[in-house]
Amino acid sequence: MARQRVGDELQRRVCRACQETYEYPVPRSLATRFYCELCMGLPAEVRGTFEKFNRRIRDLTGQVEQLRRELDRRQSPGSAGAGAQSG
Ligand SMILES: [Zn+2]
Repeated sequence: MARQRVGDELQRRVCRACQETYEYPVPRSLATRFYCELCMGLPAEVRGTFEKFNRRIRDLTGQVEQLRRELDRRQSPGSAGAGAQSG
């Protein structure tokens, strides 16, 4: 069967719970503006917990990124040059 086209334009959204990209709105899909179809099948408390974890993960990822940059700076203090030596 051919897929029916939706009147509204599909949007690419990121699920707040699992961070998956999904399209919205899709006919007959349970997905909402905030959660993908899969997560809409989960109890609200579970989705809430996922959201909490995601915030924490984003936080930690930012910190790791920061530390990595700092480490990089310390390990190669003068790496901006092309490596040419005077002589
Ligand atoms: Zn999801």
